[in-house]
Amino acid sequence: MNTPQEDRRKFLRLGLTAGCGLLVAPIMSACEGANDDKARAAQQSQSSSGNPEAPTKLSKADAKYQDRPQNGNQCSGCQHFQADTKRCAVVAGEISQNGWCSLWVASA
Ligand code: SF4
Repeated sequence: MNTPQEDRRKFLRLGLTAGCGLLVAPIMSACEGANDDKARAAQQSQSSSGNPEAPTKLSKADAKYQDRPQNGNQCSGCQHFQADTKRCAVVAGEISQNGWCSLWVASA
């Protein structure tokens, strides 16, 4: 049998433990919520960057790109052509130096 003083100590310990549990749970939950938001933002960023060129460049179809020259003009003679990467500054995707599109501009 416990003395009244021991009972009071047990009661205080239980109360303290329960109180900490009540305080810690919302804090942990808030942290998990913040991490969920970060993960969601990263996921949206990844999904929207599936094609990193897409938001800033035209598609080949929209630019009316073709893999052959047009009237003697071709990508290698265009100011948008990036020979080192076989890319174009304004049209998405890999392009041929012999290609052409409606955005062709003579290189300087
Ligand atoms: S012709 Fe079109 S695809 Fe080719 S480099 Fe110029 S803008 Fe780009």
